[in-house]
Amino acid sequence: MKSAAVVNFAPAKGSVEIREIEKPEIGEDDVLLEVANVGVCGSDLHQWTADHSWPVNYPVVLGHEFGGHIAALGKRVVGWKEGDRVVSETAAVIDQNNPMSRKGLYNLDPTRKGFGYGVNGAMTRFVRVPARCLHAVPTQLSFEQACLTEPCCVAFNAVVENSRLKPGDRVIVIGPGTIGILCAAMARLCGAEVALVGLEADRQRLDVGKIYGCEGIVGDATAWAKQRDGLGADCIIDAAGASVTLKNAMQWVRPNGHITKVGWGPQPLNFSLDPIVQKNVTLQGSFSHNWPIWERVIALMAGGQLDVKPIIGGVWPVTEWHEAFEKMHSGAVVKSVLKPA
Ligand SMILES: [Zn+2]
Repeated sequence: MKSAAVVNFAPAKGSVEIREIEKPEIGEDDVLLEVANVGVCGSDLHQWTADHSWPVNYPVVLGHEFGGHIAALGKRVVGWKEGDRVVSETAAVIDQNNPMSRKGLYNLDPTRKGFGYGVNGAMTRFVRVPARCLHAVPTQLSFEQACLTEPCCVAFNAVVENSRLKPGDRVIVIGPGTIGILCAAMARLCGAEVALVGLEADRQRLDVGKIYGCEGIVGDATAWAKQRDGLGADCIIDAAGASVTLKNAMQWVRPNGHITKVGWGPQPLNFSLDPIVQKNVTLQGSFSHNWPIWERVIALMAGGQLDVKPIIGGVWPVTEWHEAFEKMHSGAVVKSVLKPA
């Protein structure tokens, strides 16, 4: 039985098409996951528009934000059964003996390969998933929402693990894409006052941030940063897709404050980093997530503290991937979700 899949087949811009693919074979430690929903990520768009900065194993099925039911189990898999509702982490291939993996930080194993670029992802009906990637999804959490566990985990790692927020902190999040909005929502959960900053073209997405109790600011956030005592914001979360925003972050952060960078931007910088020295600022990167983060985020989503419904702009069958990608690319929706055709 063949299924339609969204395949990124070459490095050139626009090299994405629907192909019919066979059901994958699974190994002894894998499950066959029947996809219910898969989120479109900024990185899927980057591979489509060929402005990504990571190696891709062409041809590859796109999609790493997914959930569904277990359809079959490898013979060494324990603790799961057919029909279980699950979501999957993204680190499809890791070296279990890498020192980072040994301390539970397998997301930072440099040999790690993820779904959607290293191995076939989930924009199709069936995907092969190592059982160690699975997390149970409670029945009250729909797959349309559960498939967004992954970007929520990116936000949790950036805001909770890699920043140091206290209730009442003033936090500026730069970039109102999925990750930025979820970082803003996460900072609100930590008890922070939050401003979400974007461009003129981002007004619609800034309005989504308001649903999470965040101020929306177009352009310059200096006044908001200085509002309390004139010194600047306690923490800046940079979730924009351009490196130049680091300049704003350095300007808006208060002395002894914290900047967490979670947005990617391959462009080189042409400005001085001296404000980091002068202000005694911590500049922190944040990448991916690991098992305890997934468990906590699923609990937040299932418990209703974290509601991702406001960011979902629509659900399309994989065969209509182009419209779903376009809508997100143009900023008309924050997040597009697909389902098997
Ligand atoms: Zn993603």
